[in-house]
Amino acid sequence: MNTSVSILRQLVSFDTTSRNSNLPLIEWVADYLNTRGARVELLHNVSRNKANLLASIGPEQEGGVVLSGHTDVVPVDGQEWSSDPFALVERSGRLYGRGSSDMKGFIASSLAALENWRAMKLLRPLHFAFSYDEEIGCFGAHSLVDRIVGNIPKPAFAIIGEPTDMRIGVAHNGVTGSHTSFRGVAAHASDPSRGVNAIDAAASFVRLLREVAKLPQIADNGCTLNVGRIAGGAATNIIAERCSVRWEYRTARAQDAAVIQETIADYLEGDAFATLDVTSEIELDVPQRKLNVLISDAEMAGRKAAWKRPEPRFERGFGALFSRHITQANKGCDFDFLEGTAPTPDPEIH
Ligand SMILES: [Zn+2]
Repeated sequence: MNTSVSILRQLVSFDTTSRNSNLPLIEWVADYLNTRGARVELLHNVSRNKANLLASIGPEQEGGVVLSGHTDVVPVDGQEWSSDPFALVERSGRLYGRGSSDMKGFIASSLAALENWRAMKLLRPLHFAFSYDEEIGCFGAHSLVDRIVGNIPKPAFAIIGEPTDMRIGVAHNGVTGSHTSFRGVAAHASDPSRGVNAIDAAASFVRLLREVAKLPQIADNGCTLNVGRIAGGAATNIIAERCSVRWEYRTARAQDAAVIQETIADYLEGDAFATLDVTSEIELDVPQRKLNVLISDAEMAGRKAAWKRPEPRFERGFGALFSRHITQANKGCDFDFLEGTAPTPDPEIH
């Protein structure tokens, strides 16, 4: 009998940092599912070094449940780990290892539960949908969602097992990631009058972003803005010709995102950068979404009152992308059909 811990130990042992192939993990999971009677399919990327996995058990009909997670993890580079991050260890009742929570733990739990489900007569299908490259832009999710929409009977809903402190996330922030580049004029550092310093421009832009982060729409509403990467310049004695800034914001409401976008666009197009070439590209754009879940309004109000922290808004891109696509593709079978329903167990899902 495989337990969720033993499966998790196996999953953590695969170094699926997004820069690596996830195929060893995916093939292990595919084998696990195959030997337990699931219908398994791998969806490779173009270079065939990564794959999504889609598997189903139970009858081939509508109304199933999708259990979904991403297989990649964020890097451990430069971090101080007290044990091997790719060897699961238990200390004081907690399991440590890269991805043990986000989100191989959910995958392991799903696979362990399969041992029980396969012994039952399922009246609706269960689908397993595991993606690659979530951490670096949800790249795998697109083909996975397309496959689900195009090839399996319409599921009722999906559970995205991102770590949420065992609370149900009822919404997720949108996330917009941008790459803003400044190009000035290179010159020798001894004669600043001949050059235009792109690093200076980028620095003032970063200061603006810090001010934007203090806007009420950002600061008071559980939203965030972050400058994640800055690169520029060639040498100490050269006035920097180029500098680029990668940054992102996450907002709960589309109108807040619009305010931020306009504020920043106005600034970039203003006089401050008249002597530079400025380009700003959006590299990642996932919309905000509020999900209606299997919880009555009364129960949700009770839970909110009990929570010590504000209502969580989960910004993870895969869940966002996933629910958006499923919803768009399943018009008439939106999550809205769950709105207001009480959390009674569905007797048809055994
Ligand atoms: Zn995650």
